[in-house]
Amino acid sequence: MTSQNQILFEKSLALIPGGVNSPVRAFRSVGGTPVFFKKGLGSKLWDVDGKEYVDYINSWGPMILGHAHPAVIDAVQTAAANSLSFGAPTGLELEMAEMINKLMPSMEQVRLNSSGTEATMSAIRTARGFTGRDKIVKFEGCYHGHSDGLLVKAGSGLLTFGEPDSGGVPASVAAHTFTLAYNNTQQLEDLFKKSGDEIACVIIEPVVGNMNLIVPKMEFLQTLRALCTKHGAVLIFDEVMTGFRVALGGAQALYNIKPDMTTLGKVIGGGLPVGAFGGRKEIMQCLAPIGKVYQAGTLSGNPVAVTAGLVTLKLIQAEGFHTRLTNQTKKLIDGLVQAAKEAKVTFSAQNVGGMFGLYFSAQCPTSYAEIMQNNNKTHFKQFFHSMLDSGVYLGPSAFEAGFVSAAHTDADITFTVNAAKKAFSAI
Ligand SMILES: *Cc1c(COP(=O)(O)O)cnc(C)c1O
Repeated sequence: MTSQNQILFEKSLALIPGGVNSPVRAFRSVGGTPVFFKKGLGSKLWDVDGKEYVDYINSWGPMILGHAHPAVIDAVQTAAANSLSFGAPTGLELEMAEMINKLMPSMEQVRLNSSGTEATMSAIRTARGFTGRDKIVKFEGCYHGHSDGLLVKAGSGLLTFGEPDSGGVPASVAAHTFTLAYNNTQQLEDLFKKSGDEIACVIIEPVVGNMNLIVPKMEFLQTLRALCTKHGAVLIFDEVMTGFRVALGGAQALYNIKPDMTTLGKVIGGGLPVGAFGGRKEIMQCLAPIGKVYQAGTLSGNPVAVTAGLVTLKLIQAEGFHTRLTNQTKKLIDGLVQAAKEAKVTFSAQNVGGMFGLYFSAQCPTSYAEIMQNNNKTHFKQFFHSMLDSGVYLGPSAFEAGFVSAAHTDADITFTVNAAKKAFSAI
């Protein structure tokens, strides 16, 4: 009998490119059919055929409280009854700005929009307007959404201008982006020496969650901060994924480094579309209607979405929330590492707060080149499908981070580790 899932996927393929509305949802790198879901509650998901899973994607981060948290759902229902949108200011947006400023004091002024992509795109435009410079710097393997200037890879030589990393991106746009290796302090110093005074901004994931999980070296982040200050370049921490997840105050609090601008998304909307960018007041004052940098959005600061985010941000401020989240994630990591060891499978894993990375390599990688070279993709594929069969939903790629929510119990972790024992023993 053909499953409901298979029927939906085949019909979707006819109408939706690749059958999915975002490529990370496809199973192209692991093979098989993407899972179509119909319900989530706490740490669990149910697919359209009724199979239950423990969820380690959490919608790629936003569901930090778990799915369908009653307080979030209640607040959203109440907000929805007062109309879904006004296209005019509300007190909720002010409350959100106050909350962000309290949790991330480097964000002296904030503007809300509806996605992480919009947040990074707008932050970069603002940094360019502020500095009057065109060049931007990003790091290999970091993802900052799908705007043209960020879908860029390193050019033929290091320190040369970038090349498009996607069809449809003009070479002339990519030419404004430099791409350097993550955690490579020497390359940063060389680039700033050569072109420092042309650089409008550097955008970075302060913990990378988009090439699996890569942890920054302190010296690298500190050098980056110092070079940006010295050359008048705006340092943008893209905390769309790390914000409120690796620590309440994000990676900037965890590593005690103050960026000039920050971009937020994911957790800030609690599962509905919210993004935000902000930073030093003198930079943010460049924005229209007071400044010359244009940025806008019909649904920006949407009352229902902001309500979901506000309730989420209130609940994660509970005493010990991030300590518990970190401890649960660490328990999972320790359990998986131990299971791999018993099965004699080459494997390593680590977490930062409620984000984790699993690697089929002897050591945790520190850059894109390292993870591309060392991570055994065949082993990942086998592991992924065995876990899926057992009812554990992981990201369908060896190059994505995983996420634990506050709803993940010890029983969930034991269940996952037992599934992993079975998966590792088959490798
Ligand atoms: C997810 C993500 C984005 C893009 O956010 P969207 O809401 O998907 O547009 C940008 N930067 C980082 C670091 C992300 O993880």
